[in-house]
Amino acid sequence: MSEENPQRVPSRRSSKADGAPTNSDQPSADVMLNDQPVRSLVHKDITIEGYSRAAVQTYWRIPEFKVGFDLGNQPWSFMGTPTWFVSHTHMDHVLALPAYVARRRMMKMEPPTIYLPEAAVDPVQKILRQMSRLDRGRLPCNLIPTKPGDEITLSRELVVTTSATRHTLPSMGFVIWDCRRKLREEFQGLAGDEIRDLRLAGTEVTREIRVPRLAYLGDSAPEGLDDCPAMYEAEVLILELTFVSPSHRKERIHKYGHMHLDDLVERTDRFKNQVVIASHFSTRYQTRQIRRTVEKRIPDMLDGRLKLWL
Ligand SMILES: [Zn+2]
Ligand SMILES: [Zn+2]
Repeated sequence: MSEENPQRVPSRRSSKADGAPTNSDQPSADVMLNDQPVRSLVHKDITIEGYSRAAVQTYWRIPEFKVGFDLGNQPWSFMGTPTWFVSHTHMDHVLALPAYVARRRMMKMEPPTIYLPEAAVDPVQKILRQMSRLDRGRLPCNLIPTKPGDEITLSRELVVTTSATRHTLPSMGFVIWDCRRKLREEFQGLAGDEIRDLRLAGTEVTREIRVPRLAYLGDSAPEGLDDCPAMYEAEVLILELTFVSPSHRKERIHKYGHMHLDDLVERTDRFKNQVVIASHFSTRYQTRQIRRTVEKRIPDMLDGRLKLWL
């Protein structure tokens, strides 16, 4: 059902790119730069692209939804995504915000919309003003304060909900829902003109069906998952799994607002997701060590649904 690309390469190239050399030295958004690691996975009609390592950098996007999460860095190939949600303001999740805004302006793209935890909007605005002075360039963008419990309409069919997560500063997780209107059961036997007459008479003939397509936890102790049941139901879940080693005690790790492999093991029955992407591993571990440790504790890798994003 899903197809994983283990290569850390920008996976997308605009159809406009024809490889022809240009006669100016203007930068081009169509050029494929291998400037940041990007992994990708295709699941049904969406592509999940990104990379995350604790204290280094975190960035994700779903091109088909035109949405990204976290701006810890900004691969050149990501700049076309116009709407971003920042889970919290640790540097490895927000540092590339000014560069992203500047690139979009330079490339004559619309100013982006960036949703931030409420308390972060004012400091980020100040940083942008100072960067603007240093860089001598405008940094146009819409910074929108967000708090847990918000519901944000992205399009006719897509809604994002926010939930509180448990970290060392204000932080949020996100769920992207596909919303469709469906004819109510009691009207399903009726002819088209009868339904139209009911609608014209003011009867609500449809009801909304919401499907959680993708959830992004951000950095959080396991309560961030447990407090938002939709995280366990979403088709795709992007999870943080900072610590895996038995020598790192989970009680201590929870204090720092992170997940341990023990937390995942305790919850294996709860994940109804079709794909679970585990990421944000600590740099204390080697890639091989992470893979070996997780495969030992969860040998079936949640029936193959668990992907380690290394
Ligand atoms: Zn982090
Ligand atoms: Zn953090």
